[in-house]
Amino acid sequence: MKVFKFGGASVKDAAGVKNVAGIVKQYQHENLCIVISAMGKITNALEELVKAYVKDANSNPNKFNDSKKEIFEKIKDYHYSIIHDLFEPGPGRDAALLKVNVFFLELQNRFEKMPSANYDLVYDQIVCVGELVSTTIVSEYFNAIGLTNTWFDARRLIRTDSTYREGKVDWKISEQQVSKTLIPFYIGSLEKKIAITQGFIGGTSIDLTTTLGREGSDYTAAILSYLLDARDMTIWKDVPGVLNADPRIHPDAVKLNKISFHEAIELTYYGATVIHPKTIKPLQNKGIPLYVNSFIEPNKKGTVIQPSEDFDNKIPSYIYKKNQVLLSIIPRDFSFVDEQNLRDIFDLFAQFNLHINLMQNSAMS
Ligand code: ADP
Ligand code: ASP
Ligand code: MG
Repeated sequence: MKVFKFGGASVKDAAGVKNVAGIVKQYQHENLCIVISAMGKITNALEELVKAYVKDANSNPNKFNDSKKEIFEKIKDYHYSIIHDLFEPGPGRDAALLKVNVFFLELQNRFEKMPSANYDLVYDQIVCVGELVSTTIVSEYFNAIGLTNTWFDARRLIRTDSTYREGKVDWKISEQQVSKTLIPFYIGSLEKKIAITQGFIGGTSIDLTTTLGREGSDYTAAILSYLLDARDMTIWKDVPGVLNADPRIHPDAVKLNKISFHEAIELTYYGATVIHPKTIKPLQNKGIPLYVNSFIEPNKKGTVIQPSEDFDNKIPSYIYKKNQVLLSIIPRDFSFVDEQNLRDIFDLFAQFNLHINLMQNSAMS
């Protein structure tokens, strides 16, 4: 069993989806679980839609303004145009349109009603449509070209608490869900199977949608790899692998061929945005290797992230962080910056959810 994750950049247009199909074809002889994000930058557009909906509703609860209409139409047109480019006119295209329209109609109906006062809850019920629609289009397209697959609703596989926009995974219930549905899907058959599901989204025990935090599809793939006991996981990116810096900032960044789980956790926790920071831990816990490969050059070796520390090479990595604040804290009484004061300072940081990237302490500061 292999788990693949394709991000928004890989499925941003019809050519992207066809390229993804080409990659998947090469692995058809294996059981595959494929996790896909929303197409292109659609999650950003959906965030704008949520803002507009809430603003419209609050400006005049009796007769909603319709500033959201334009955004909604753009989101729909973007997906329709991909469907039109992917499918010839006929039953395949009709099936894709029909299924995608169910999600859009649900949104339309939602917009007729007042939003709940819980913004984050509203956000998750709307933003999830990006992943639901993208996986539907890809799944229908794969079926149309003979890559037979089954679409699974990730909200029934990955269960979370009700922390909207940052759902905490309930590992026990998710394991039960995966054992009930996904595992029998593979085990019950002699043929190799392909499952397609959404990244980023989960569901609560009362069937409301949650999201796992922006860029969370990598994490979804890691959760499923863990629960399925995958042999390995691959995330397909627009870069040759994990580099020692973000190539958008450092064009001469070099590829790291092999890194340890430990190093990868450090890099992603401190802001190497190529992988979501929560991704590595579940893989490390089961020793499942993670490959970071290029969807542009799929046959080239990317980066492998594995248990061993042996091969951490001596190439230093750079992480560029914007909007940082430097705080100096100095005792004004007779004390030093000792354990007692540090404890109080850390308590406050934790209380206000502030993240410390770098810290140095001395007797007086
Ligand atoms: P996805 O399509 O899966 O969501 P992302 O766009 O989130 O992919 O991640 C890939 C991007 O991460 C790259 O295009 C690159 O600009 C950026 N990136 C930041 N740090 C690194 C790094 N250390 N190595 C490679 N890419 C990096
Ligand atoms: N579509 C979501 C986002 O843009 C999740 C992801 O791409 O990983 O944040
Ligand atoms: Mg991303």
